[in-house]
Amino acid sequence: MEDCFGGIEAGGTKFVCAVGTGPSDLRERAEFPTTSPEETIRSAAAFFNACSRGGKLKAIGIGSFGPVDLHPGSPTFGYITSTPKEGWRNVDIAGAIRQGTGVSRVAFDTDVNAAALGEARWGAARGLDTFLYLTIGTGIGGGGMVNGRLLHGLLHPEMGHMRVPHDRQADPFAGCCPWHGDCLEGLASGEAMRQRWGMRGQRIHPDHAAWRLEVEYLAHAVVNLICSMSPQRLVLGGGVMQGLNLPALHSAVRGLLNGYLQSALILDRIEDYIVRPQLGADAGVLGAIALAWNGNSDIRP
Ligand code: ZN
Repeated sequence: MEDCFGGIEAGGTKFVCAVGTGPSDLRERAEFPTTSPEETIRSAAAFFNACSRGGKLKAIGIGSFGPVDLHPGSPTFGYITSTPKEGWRNVDIAGAIRQGTGVSRVAFDTDVNAAALGEARWGAARGLDTFLYLTIGTGIGGGGMVNGRLLHGLLHPEMGHMRVPHDRQADPFAGCCPWHGDCLEGLASGEAMRQRWGMRGQRIHPDHAAWRLEVEYLAHAVVNLICSMSPQRLVLGGGVMQGLNLPALHSAVRGLLNGYLQSALILDRIEDYIVRPQLGADAGVLGAIALAWNGNSDIRP
């Protein structure tokens, strides 16, 4: 097991754990519902202990829901911090996994940064050093790399909470974010769709006005990100994206940019610029394994 890594995709509804070295070598995989921190972390540690059968994994990576503390010098490094999720506030998830498994190298980052790293190593962002990864699901999160380093900064990006124009006549829904109401997540997340239309995105017909509105909000968010970060590519995943017409988003983004950015990638090949992830259902846990490879060194794979 010395050549092998562990990964944890720590989500608000489930923990996905796996052992392996990449997409073609996932040796063991298990899922646990996210209940109390004690029970959930104990299940994850027991999984790794059973997999390693006495040997130690080289490292374990955790891509966690958040907000989280990512600063290695901080006394609460590796903690989930201010989450609204019941029982999970100020939980030392990285420390508990280290203690429960005896594996000393535990790398820790946001779920979206982990997924971004996985896509950089094996998927849709290979060869790039500055790109963004957005997940549009129950909530909206964003991460990525700038100049080959995962984005952290002051805390870590919270792209889901950016503001986008909200025409209250066209869309009277007040938004569902508990902090901001009509931020991007409040208007365009899966939860916003459910509350606004009374049904989940998967059940909304492709011709329904819900999708036009969704494209509009996401196009504004994507344009804001392109203008502020100058990413070489944007990778858009998550449950809501599965129902969204990507070419409609491409033309909305191009319309808003209005020819201003003189890049052939945007002007002529936007389908290669705003893309879907390539790692599928295992993206999160593969990203966590990629984190374990990297440690917290932030060095591009
Ligand atoms: Zn918000």
